[in-house]
Amino acid sequence: MGLPWIWRVKASLGETMAPVGSKLLGQLPTTIFTTMSALAAETGSVNLGQGFPDDEGPAFLRQKAAEYILAGPSQYPPMAGLLALREAVAAHDRRFYGLNFDPGSQVLVTSGATEALAAALFGFLNPGDEAIVIEPAYDSYAPIIRLVGATPRFLRLEAPEWRLDQTRLEALCNAKTRVLILNSPMNPIGKVFGRDELEMIAVVAQANDLRVICDEVYEHIIFPGASHVPLMTLPGMGERCVRIASAGKTFSLTGWKVGYASGPAQLIGLMAKAHQFLTFTTPPALQLAVAHGLEQPDDYYAQLGNDLGAKRDRLAQGLVAAGFHPLPAKGTYFLVVDLSGKGVKNDSEFAVELAKKAGVVAIPLSAFYEVDGPQHLLRFCFSKQFDVLDNAIERLKRALIPA
Ligand code: PMP
Ligand code: GLN
Repeated sequence: MGLPWIWRVKASLGETMAPVGSKLLGQLPTTIFTTMSALAAETGSVNLGQGFPDDEGPAFLRQKAAEYILAGPSQYPPMAGLLALREAVAAHDRRFYGLNFDPGSQVLVTSGATEALAAALFGFLNPGDEAIVIEPAYDSYAPIIRLVGATPRFLRLEAPEWRLDQTRLEALCNAKTRVLILNSPMNPIGKVFGRDELEMIAVVAQANDLRVICDEVYEHIIFPGASHVPLMTLPGMGERCVRIASAGKTFSLTGWKVGYASGPAQLIGLMAKAHQFLTFTTPPALQLAVAHGLEQPDDYYAQLGNDLGAKRDRLAQGLVAAGFHPLPAKGTYFLVVDLSGKGVKNDSEFAVELAKKAGVVAIPLSAFYEVDGPQHLLRFCFSKQFDVLDNAIERLKRALIPA
């Protein structure tokens, strides 16, 4: 045998394989979204946990994708994405934000925003660097920062105001800090950062020479009265920011996993270096259908916000009627309820109880924190049909309101 002696011994003992496994990933649990969707299936619950719409998405885009699947193209598209989609992203960014990107060098198509986020972190960071993450935070940020060998530093926003504190942000910066991740509109709390807070971030980013990865997947899921301002539109920020968005959210097609990033050529180039080894490309038929989606008139986008705003209102009213206290949400798919006064000591246990007793699944907010998250908050997803939301409310009332 060509095996080293130690393996000949192990093989003789019946041990034929060396242990493998990433220590970092091994210690992480399965994501809360997968876990809670499994609990919903197991308990027959209405699933208001994982964030996705409960219909199949716009028929006109699925029709387009089907046509492109039949007609092609089917082979590898260019690594940075089909030009038609890159042009559509640049035109979208010009139309909505007055940004001017060269589709050839300043736009990158990725397999979902998740991949774009990973590409940005792999592209911008080195081992030993630090990256600031605002909590409560989307679950993919910190693990990817650590996979790069960098260290996440957490800035907490506190309920119910969730206001950014410039002094605390500044205090987190040091000579190793390279990156800040900003998610606005913000999952899980439905916050849309106001111009004053964006200005604070711009001041800190410029003073500390940070690059900002702007996770703007919910850019069009904002409700009447709120407006989304990309950080990169603020003076001096264009060179420091990349903007990441997703057809999953903008076209209610979360399973398609088509994402796109735009920003200065230097930063997009760094992301492309990582992207070429992560997924290299994204299905071309879906890219072309998404390009068609991005070209829709303003009405399409306004309708998206209006429809989801109506769903937010329906769920919020129902939650109040069921005895919950929802916090305001200006965007995203999510409402957070404050359980203070309900005697809840552990939000995860409460969420499991709620699934078993009421048949409704929500996400405990502590899952969005590194350590010692608050235990009195729960996230409900409202991107569901009215009758599904109503059914959830009826179940909550039945289980929680004494007859
Ligand atoms: N960022 C945030 C804040 C999200 O909520 C999500 C999930 N929808 C993503 C990124 C990932 O988006 P995608 O499904 O396009 O990978
Ligand atoms: N973004 C979705 C949420 O916050 C989940 C995405 C996922 O399951 N990875 O619920």
